[in-house]
Amino acid sequence: MQPASHPTVILGGGFAGLFTALHLSQQNYFQPIILIEQRDRFSFKPLLYELLSGELHSEQVYPHYQELLTGSRVNFVQDTVQSIDLHQRSVNTASGQSFYYSNLVLALGSKTTYFNTPGAAEHAMPFTSGEQAIALRKHLRHRLHQAIQTTNPERRRLLLTVAIIGAGPAGVELACTLADLLPIWYDELGGDGSEIHIVLVNRSREILKGDVNSSLRCTVQRAMKNRVIPVDFLFDAAVTKITSDGVEYRQNEKTQMLQAGTIAWTAGTAPNPLLMELPVTQNRGRLLVKPTLQLPDFPEVFAAGDCAIDNDNPQPPTAQVAYQQGIAIAQNLKRLRENKPTIPLQIQMRGTLMKLGLNEGVANLFNKLQIKGQPGHLIRQGAYLQLLPNSAHNFKVTSEWLTDELFQRHRAATPMQLGQTPWLSGVATAAAALILATPLVWRAAQPMQFQQNLIWTGVPALLDQLAPPSR
Ligand SMILES: Cc1cc2nc3c(=O)[nH]c(=O)nc-3n(C[C@H](O)[C@H](O)[C@H](O)COP(=O)(O)OP(=O)(O)OC[C@H]3O[C@@H](n4cnc5c(N)ncnc54)[C@H](O)[C@@H]3O)c2cc1C
Repeated sequence: MQPASHPTVILGGGFAGLFTALHLSQQNYFQPIILIEQRDRFSFKPLLYELLSGELHSEQVYPHYQELLTGSRVNFVQDTVQSIDLHQRSVNTASGQSFYYSNLVLALGSKTTYFNTPGAAEHAMPFTSGEQAIALRKHLRHRLHQAIQTTNPERRRLLLTVAIIGAGPAGVELACTLADLLPIWYDELGGDGSEIHIVLVNRSREILKGDVNSSLRCTVQRAMKNRVIPVDFLFDAAVTKITSDGVEYRQNEKTQMLQAGTIAWTAGTAPNPLLMELPVTQNRGRLLVKPTLQLPDFPEVFAAGDCAIDNDNPQPPTAQVAYQQGIAIAQNLKRLRENKPTIPLQIQMRGTLMKLGLNEGVANLFNKLQIKGQPGHLIRQGAYLQLLPNSAHNFKVTSEWLTDELFQRHRAATPMQLGQTPWLSGVATAAAALILATPLVWRAAQPMQFQQNLIWTGVPALLDQLAPPSR
């Protein structure tokens, strides 16, 4: 056994890892904390569409770890983990460093898989990180510039077609965002926005198949039809090859080709290969954990987020779950230090949130109530902005967002372009933003005062349910 003087090491700075680190640092946990992460910035994945569209700034949803961790007790190491030895209690990184730990948190998420589709890794663009969102934005802008310069109608059609592979939540949200955004960008260049084609390609007939958002299918289908450019579907289409200018697929036993200048890939995730090598039980590559999130044979090791699963109480791979697990691991690590027993985690599923275009979303509260359109969009963004790590950052971002919503700063589309009455749209946005965001901002700025003054109304408890405070 390693002496207790070794640090607590957290692998992966996504939702599970970063929030474990931040919550540990905020409580009286005197053990050194090391967070090892391969990237220099945190990707707030549910808001990557806003990063792509420019609705939110990169500092808001793609902040540097150094900034987020300033003032915390977390020692950030930017490096790639190469191997983990659970028996020796050590971790090796690509730069040749070794870290010994007394406790370890495995939060390495999952990775994109192309299911061995020829050409996909070379020509399709994944969409899982801030880096990839920015790369997709640059690529799309470039395609629009090329399209405006060409006089060849066939070539222009190819340049203006975007194929999105996979009709899960990311594919659907990306399709809705681009179907509003690209016509506006193209109009600004002097092009005709109605020439844009967004095609959602899916192996089956069903969208959101097996996903936590599947109850929103009808709302989502309606929203896809009502974008600035309606989203086209290519269903029952098995993608067989991706080339530099299109997607080859099999449909009705025929091989066909969809010409497209941009191919975005949201079709699948696979387990992190590093974790598959560990001598522990797994369920389809996800590490099996106890309800306390500890590995059964290695109680000093916790695992959470997309890379772990409790078979008795399986949870979907979502940010909402990973965030709550991060808080629970921090509490259990502290209890271990105090020689107290660890406690099982109870996940509170508070419903789901989806982006369905610019300024449009749906909040499915507790799976009972659907709030759609602009109010749905405001609830979605307000709730996610509250989850942003570090309360100073959180307050800054929330107030910037509020200003943007009220004064229509950074608004990529006009209400007319989105088919709304400007007057109604402005009033509704202002009213909804005020009603929804005031308590969020007040709670972030003065949590004690907020609690004392409003406890009788039940609002603090409701907000805690919908959007837990980050401290
Ligand atoms: C486009 C998109 C939209 C989404 N929208 C939503 C949503 O609206 N609501 C929702 O609840 N969920 C959403 N999700 C899912 C959610 O983001 C994930 O479930 C969540 O991020 C999982 O957290 P995690 O900590 O397990 O993994 P991640 O957030 O993926 O973090 C894993 C971290 O480990 C790092 N890492 C991996 N390998 C190594 C290595 N070898 N060395 C060092 N570091 C490494 C990665 O760089 C990464 O930072 C979305 C996901 C995507 C891709």
